[in-house]
Amino acid sequence: MTANSHSRVTILNVPIDHVSMQSTLDQIGLWVDEEPAQLHQICTVNPEFVMQARKDTDFLAVLQQADLCIPDGIGLVYASAWQGKRLPERVAGSELVNHLAELCAYKGKRLFLLGAAEGVAAKAGEIYQAHYPGLQIAGSWSGSPDPAENDDIVEKIVSAETDVLYVAFGAPNQDKWIARNKDKLGSVCVAIGIGGSLDFVTGRTSRAPQWVQNLSLEWLYRLLKEPWRWRRMLALPKFTALALIESLTQR
Ligand code: UDP
Repeated sequence: MTANSHSRVTILNVPIDHVSMQSTLDQIGLWVDEEPAQLHQICTVNPEFVMQARKDTDFLAVLQQADLCIPDGIGLVYASAWQGKRLPERVAGSELVNHLAELCAYKGKRLFLLGAAEGVAAKAGEIYQAHYPGLQIAGSWSGSPDPAENDDIVEKIVSAETDVLYVAFGAPNQDKWIARNKDKLGSVCVAIGIGGSLDFVTGRTSRAPQWVQNLSLEWLYRLLKEPWRWRRMLALPKFTALALIESLTQR
């Protein structure tokens, strides 16, 4: 396996790669061209992931063995700065997946969309094909992370000769699903857990306006639009306090 060549910062035991959107795409571009294909797992880490991993050691292990952990949360950029190792920028997973679909079209790689609500992955595939001419959608399947469906889903992905796999089961299930199946996925060379990204692609949910994103307040917009998330988002102030303490004790 080609190691990812980026340095990493460790925040509360979770490794985060020192990458920008462009260097992430450059790295993936190398991986998809590798012969023979070997699976590389990408995790889109945000502070909620880090806090979840403190309670769930299996999830922590998945993040620690992933080939690339991108900083999909402005809180991670701040926490890295407190350690004196500032990450270049937030790399939003929901943007990365669009660029990666374009990369698949350009390189002739076959993209499989797994997860999200019934019909969403199929619709996202159609939208991507309209946006990125020549893109080959290997398949789309709503499915679920239920172990009873595991083998059937793996068979679908493998028989479709998939190169790049998006898994939209929400964290941590999507990331655990990839880690659990990484040796069974045939020609898949890149697999990434993508949360609610297909809901953005299909317009089921909308991202914050650009000016809100520029103010690094997308998390607040999401909380206001989806207030049922408040309990999960309590992770944010806890993360901030713990990351600050960690940076102070490292000095
Ligand atoms: N989802 C799914 N199966 C499940 C649980 C979730 O397909 O068993 C999908 C859900 O429809 C959504 C995506 O996972 O499209 C992301 O869910 P969530 O909003 O929890 O994740 P986040 O965007 O916060 O990572």
